[in-house]
Amino acid sequence: MMEKFDFEIARIIRTINGRGCRKILLQFPEGLKRKAAQVAVAISGQVKSEIIIHGEPCFGACDVPRTSADLIIHFGHLPIPCLDSPNSIMFIQAKSDVDPMPVLEMAVDKLPRKIGLLTTAQHIHMIVPAMNFLEEKGKEVLVGKGDGRLFAEGQVLGCNASVARNVAKKVDAFLFVGTGNFHPLAVALASSKPVIIADPVNNEVRDISEVRDRMLRQRHATIEKAREAKHFGILLSEKPGQRREKMADYVKKILADKQQHLDAVIVEMDLVTPQKLDAFGLDAWVSTACPRLAIDDYAAFSVPVLTPIELEILLGKRAWNDYVFDEILEGQ
Ligand code: SF4
Repeated sequence: MMEKFDFEIARIIRTINGRGCRKILLQFPEGLKRKAAQVAVAISGQVKSEIIIHGEPCFGACDVPRTSADLIIHFGHLPIPCLDSPNSIMFIQAKSDVDPMPVLEMAVDKLPRKIGLLTTAQHIHMIVPAMNFLEEKGKEVLVGKGDGRLFAEGQVLGCNASVARNVAKKVDAFLFVGTGNFHPLAVALASSKPVIIADPVNNEVRDISEVRDRMLRQRHATIEKAREAKHFGILLSEKPGQRREKMADYVKKILADKQQHLDAVIVEMDLVTPQKLDAFGLDAWVSTACPRLAIDDYAAFSVPVLTPIELEILLGKRAWNDYVFDEILEGQ
């Protein structure tokens, strides 16, 4: 299905002209970059401001670039409320035009009676119609409220499934409406409940359990590989919404514990790439940045990259049975 997104061009033009902005920076996540030129041309035809597209990779609202522009327009995400979001950033969530009802109809028979409903920024405007639809089909539907990193009820981030944990005891399973595996994976590992994916773009319904089990096997192997490591790097992100200084200090402290005989340095970085890590020649890394980094990109790294939770398992401070997903929570 050809998915279209609402870039809210008219609202953007009104804002730019109303504020008399001189220089505008447009920031797109990887999945929307192909639309960037088209959006820039549509805006620049109706404003006097200089329009520049930010070319660096972007994966979330946690990533706000340094710029001399007087307005950043960030597409594809909702704001992270607990982050300082100056007036000079405008978030355009890029609502998807895909109708989720056909795939919800396909999902109904696979769902238990009590379900928690979750989605991402692109489909959040459909959460009430989806809830009404499922209730008409006899389901009891709960839409949770997350912590201060989540803008909307029912919204899940790849680094924050608090919206699911907050209602997990009251539901038998979660239904995630959206594409990809990472968000439902975060929900499955944060809540220990079954998670069904209703993907309205590819029109398919699937269970996350196989992906979750495969990921757990990979994580177990990565932890075992790190047992040989003596020299660790601790990744501290320069991106404002991924920067966990207290967590980096905690990781350094447990690695420096005299009984472990391990040494560790904190390395600050913006975009993390395997080449950048390799240059340091360290034996293993612990990432306090975006949790997706260690998990989604694991095959690209030549040495183990662990989450802080996985380091606790490696050091014997946590049992493998207590494996939980690394989340970035409000206040961290
Ligand atoms: S930290 Fe990662 S998962 Fe969280 S908002 Fe940023 S890019 Fe997304």
